[in-house]
Amino acid sequence: MPTTALRLEGIQESVVARAAGLGSRLHTVSDVRTVADEESRDFWRKLRDLSSFAADPDACVWRLMLPGTQAARVVNAMGGEAVYDWGGSEVFIRMEAGKAEEHALALRTMAGEAGGNACLFRAPAELRRRVGAFQPRPKALQELGERVRQMFDPNSILNPGKRARSATEKHDMKTRISEAAFANPDIALANDIIRTCVHCGICLSHCPTYQVRHDENDSPRGRIVLMRDMYEQGGTPDAKTVGHLDRCLTCLACEAICPSGVQYSKLIGHGLEHIETTYRRPLLQRVIRRTLTVLIPSPRLFRVGLHAGKLGRPFKWMFSGSLRAMLDMTPTGGLPPASPVDRPQVFPAQGPRRARVSILNGCVQTILDPKINEATIRLLQRHGVEVVVARGAGCCGAPAEHMGMEKYALPLVKANIDAWLKEAEGPGGLDAIIVNTSGCGTSLKAYGHALRLDPAWKEKAARISALAKDITEFMVDIGLQTPRKHRNLRVVYHSACSMQHGQRIVHQPLDLLRSAGFEVLEVPDGFMCCGSAGVYNLLQPKIAGELKQRKVANIRSVGADVAASGNIGCMTQLSDSIGMPFVHTVELLDWATGGPEPDALRAVKALPNDPHTAHGRVTS
Ligand code: SF4
Ligand code: SF4
Repeated sequence: MPTTALRLEGIQESVVARAAGLGSRLHTVSDVRTVADEESRDFWRKLRDLSSFAADPDACVWRLMLPGTQAARVVNAMGGEAVYDWGGSEVFIRMEAGKAEEHALALRTMAGEAGGNACLFRAPAELRRRVGAFQPRPKALQELGERVRQMFDPNSILNPGKRARSATEKHDMKTRISEAAFANPDIALANDIIRTCVHCGICLSHCPTYQVRHDENDSPRGRIVLMRDMYEQGGTPDAKTVGHLDRCLTCLACEAICPSGVQYSKLIGHGLEHIETTYRRPLLQRVIRRTLTVLIPSPRLFRVGLHAGKLGRPFKWMFSGSLRAMLDMTPTGGLPPASPVDRPQVFPAQGPRRARVSILNGCVQTILDPKINEATIRLLQRHGVEVVVARGAGCCGAPAEHMGMEKYALPLVKANIDAWLKEAEGPGGLDAIIVNTSGCGTSLKAYGHALRLDPAWKEKAARISALAKDITEFMVDIGLQTPRKHRNLRVVYHSACSMQHGQRIVHQPLDLLRSAGFEVLEVPDGFMCCGSAGVYNLLQPKIAGELKQRKVANIRSVGADVAASGNIGCMTQLSDSIGMPFVHTVELLDWATGGPEPDALRAVKALPNDPHTAHGRVTS
């Protein structure tokens, strides 16, 4: 049943009077419902985010710009599900991905004949590359645009993007990187990626740092230009460029929304690495960054560091910036003891074995919340999966990689590859490497790219990337057991950026939680980063703090009993402020299928009785 929404704004009395007047006239032709306040805001937010199209991440969403009178004709001819905005002059239409080329031709022909255009707004990256995101302009308009550019802006300084470029050129943004720099394959790749940006600006509204700072240099589009300039000029980048790139959260919201398929993750990854190898940071920054690369990957040193932080907490007023942020992040209570599951061993499947996997235990998570790995292993065992904790595997390398310090990340990456390949090539083999921290999952899935230029490692790294799976991806594949009890608990699910943007895992955690019997609520503006972003909250505490406040307000606004997420970083960033228990998604899935109630939930008042869970045990 189609819905028409009318938005009324203005002085309260006026809005109420107009709503009443419209309601009395419209109810003769249709059902009318008036919504206000948070319900109204939520409705418009969902419309803006095209939430109704989010269930199928593989579908193509087209944006049609048309004269309003033509929209219905085009939509009816195509037969897809549509959202009309601006009186029909902007229409979003969802189509099957299977016939993307055919749909592109039909939509662009009809839109062109109506005097408009069709842009492939949301689609898998490979499709966007194949079909092209933007509709080529009519030849006469292209020639006119090119003549104007030649007259007023021959060097494309004012607008290096598509609108000012010649229609005959293959790429959209012009670069002038020297031949010598091109010899570096990372810079050559960066050049290719930079040239796919058409400067449309669609990414700006999804960029958290742009939303906070309102500076184009702190947006994806601005950073792409800064990186282009950095490579064109060569040598040491200036402090201004470094500052803007450092402020990037690497949340990848821009990559997920970009209709032109700009592979921003690869671009910023190498941009930060380039800075680390060519720019000398002030001494304090160097010390802090190096300390983080030593402390975080080692659970033993990290535990010692947290104890030292606790001793330093009373004196935190003496510090500011990163040092203050580190003391603030130190847990106030005692640390849980190390879990026996985090030692190398094999956990047998319960019942007939359906699969054999290895688990990435991680580094920080084993210290801050070891129950997450315990719940993951129990859940897998219960579903007939044998779980191996591989000897020699440890930190995935992401903390150093986040800071562009590849030289400290690669030894960890290689140690993991060796450890898991030994298992994969052993008698039991491996069906998957399970990751329950989405930040680490994004990193594992990029091992193949990180080592693509190393002949001795590239194939091995690609094999590991292909095996890596988030626990929710894996559980959807093997199917969740019927939950033992309908729990009737309202769970607000916070999707980490590394989950939804980095790995494009969107519906799996929601589907699993729903099928486990929970009522699942989504966070308004859920695409926005919470400010955690690896070690970002330690290095850029001011922006991280502002993003945290926004996220906390949005999580609290939905009125849930408990929050869930698939990333320990977000949980650590937010749990002290959201005013409800914050658990990992697997803890809820484990509980719903027979495991113990998560510790954090015991604090929730009036939980439904749960007679079946006494104690969860991991059997080794
Ligand atoms: S990165 Fe993508 S969305 Fe952003 S300006 Fe470039 S082409 Fe447009
Ligand atoms: S990765 Fe995130 S913070 Fe960085 S430019 Fe993209 S959207 Fe903005």
